[in-house]
Amino acid sequence: MIDLRSDTVTRPSAAMRQMMAQAAVGDDVWGDDPTVQQLETLAARMLGKQAALFVSSGTQSNLLALLCHCQRGDEYLVGQDAHTYKYEGGGAAVLGSIQPQPLPVSADGTIALDLIQAAIKPDDVHFARTRLLCLENTFSGRVLPLAYLQDAARLAREHKLASHLDGARIFNAAVKTGVDVQVIAEPFDTVSVCLSKGLGAPVGSVLCGSAELIKQARRWRKMLGGGMRQAGIIAAGGIYALEHNVPRLADDHVNAALLAAGLRTVDAVTIDTAWVQTNMVYMVPKAGTAEALTQYLHSHGILVDPGTTIRMVTHLDVDKADVLATVAAIRSFYSGA
Ligand SMILES: *Cc1c(COP(=O)(O)O)cnc(C)c1O
Repeated sequence: MIDLRSDTVTRPSAAMRQMMAQAAVGDDVWGDDPTVQQLETLAARMLGKQAALFVSSGTQSNLLALLCHCQRGDEYLVGQDAHTYKYEGGGAAVLGSIQPQPLPVSADGTIALDLIQAAIKPDDVHFARTRLLCLENTFSGRVLPLAYLQDAARLAREHKLASHLDGARIFNAAVKTGVDVQVIAEPFDTVSVCLSKGLGAPVGSVLCGSAELIKQARRWRKMLGGGMRQAGIIAAGGIYALEHNVPRLADDHVNAALLAAGLRTVDAVTIDTAWVQTNMVYMVPKAGTAEALTQYLHSHGILVDPGTTIRMVTHLDVDKADVLATVAAIRSFYSGA
């Protein structure tokens, strides 16, 4: 199978599994797991923050950040299509009584600064207290401009808001632009990073921020049932991912560009190549063909994320030959149809 549905489908390599199997472990809730501690130290250092917390998922990491930054009755500003708002089950509202203020996201993944500014509520009993700005980078594979991130975080600071970056794929942004990941993370109070996507670890994310905030996040994590015991086994996969799988994200970007370029030669599908910046390709098939195309690809051993716009994500278990085979299959679907 060529599985292009997501970069979450990556499986741990033999070398990663070996490191996991040999990991020194202890009870992490007691603070005894040296491998978890090693991962947290490594992640904090790489992201340029004081501390980090190893958590089960990106969803949990973002939720912990929201719970730390906002109290009951507070509000966070977030993109209408942001993961933190749209794809996390409403966790902030359900578990934190935190009100989202969703804002429209521009095609480049940014939220216009004037919209952010206008959404910040004055101190007035009618309003929830606006406390936090939440951005996402990369957003649908798009790299948010560094100057924008800095300006947006500054705007937040000027209004005494905290800032959180959902950096699930922040390393894709860093590798794509050549900007150090610390520089991208620097304007934000907290940054969440997924280890289980393009970086190839089987499980886990890290939340990075100040020592004080991470201490508070550790308490929330325990409350949410996220205190894990001999978690060094999975943390070792995360260490391996950070130590070995960052530079190779460039291969995924090359493969996504190759996929997009190949599909540009198929008349029946449309690709907006300007937005193919990292490891994601969004393809709009000719009206009425998306479902049949998806089924055809499936029957030819190719899995895609279905919809009227089909998403394809490159990752470490997809190589150049897989990309060429995918382009060929899509071409043959339309030439046969
Ligand atoms: C995947 C993802 C998350 C959540 O990660 P899970 O581990 O799936 O919970 C958060 N934000 C973004 C942008 C993501 O792509």
